[in-house]
Amino acid sequence: MDTTESIIFVSIFALAALLIALPRMLSRRERRRRDAVAGSESVSDADAEPAVSAVTEVPDADGPGPRRLRDRLGKSRAPFVGLRGRLKARQLDDEAWDDLEETLLLADVGVATATRLLDGVRDRARAQGLSGADGLPALLQAEIAGQLEDHGDRTLCLDAGRPNAWILVGVNGVGKTTTAAKLATRELARGHSVLFAAADTFRAAAADQLAVWGAKIGVDVIRGQEGGDPGAVAFDAVQAAGARGIDLVLVDTAGRLHTKVNLMEELKKISRVVERTPGALREVLLVLDATTGQNGLAQAREFAVAVGVTGVVLTKLDGSAKGGVVLAIESELGVPVKLVGVGETDADLVDFDPVEFAAALVG
Ligand code: GDP
Repeated sequence: MDTTESIIFVSIFALAALLIALPRMLSRRERRRRDAVAGSESVSDADAEPAVSAVTEVPDADGPGPRRLRDRLGKSRAPFVGLRGRLKARQLDDEAWDDLEETLLLADVGVATATRLLDGVRDRARAQGLSGADGLPALLQAEIAGQLEDHGDRTLCLDAGRPNAWILVGVNGVGKTTTAAKLATRELARGHSVLFAAADTFRAAAADQLAVWGAKIGVDVIRGQEGGDPGAVAFDAVQAAGARGIDLVLVDTAGRLHTKVNLMEELKKISRVVERTPGALREVLLVLDATTGQNGLAQAREFAVAVGVTGVVLTKLDGSAKGGVVLAIESELGVPVKLVGVGETDADLVDFDPVEFAAALVG
């Protein structure tokens, strides 16, 4: 065999070996690909699990709604996490005070409220003769609770046996409809009967969304023609509640209207219409999205001035690092935060308690 012949022979042998091995290599590769796909599916299944269990969260035995605010505050605690660690074994010097101020501003309490809180903490530190910075978080916690406790009654008014109306106001997307569902769930569990009034007649989708919640939790919805008079819907709902012996009418309103129609005038009209049934108007709840922080305060002021707001529901506190805005709302609007929303299910509504909130935020 000369050299050329042996090269041809070796090439033929190599080609044959390749042809024999190729199907096996391909099938191994396909198996690896399939394993990878199956693996990634099981990873995404695992990822999806917490979301599913969050939706099916079991309410506490003593009523609906999670009770541990600390566990539900989520990102709101973020600015304060680590504060204790940073202040540990440190002198009570300017740097420590600056750290405390920065933390408050990060939590979106606003400059005016931060200054007032720091003044209060300084007074407490002086009175106690504090020399180390590690005592500051506890003093801040006490000061926050103290300032919040000054802001009046946080209960929601309802006298069973006659129609009570709670009107929910606020811009689109803040969580009015979801809050209506949460409130209905709570009141049903307390033995009260509930009716929804879909007074956002400007968006058919809004009434549809309320109807979906109504079907889910067993609450009837009074709704009107699209583009119809929202006041008429509220009026009909209060009348229907009177006729059917229903305790509570939750009135969901529009957050934005078509041009020319003034939202505040429309909301005033709704409350006037509800008041035609003497004593029926019990609460006007301003729903605010905590994730907007200080930016939400300007719109809140507008609503508070126009429609005699009796309380604030601060939603999405689970997804916001701006929980400190509670302090700004109360001191600037003079309206108590009555409830906080800490999730998207109808159980995710918590009574606002200043002492618990201060402990959950700073502790
Ligand atoms: P509306 O336009 O004011 O009626 O707002 P919706 O009730 O339609 O809510 C807007 C979005 O915010 C929806 O996706 C809700 O699920 C969500 N949402 C409402 N409240 C909360 C809350 O407390 N936490 C979280 N994470 N999402 C919320």
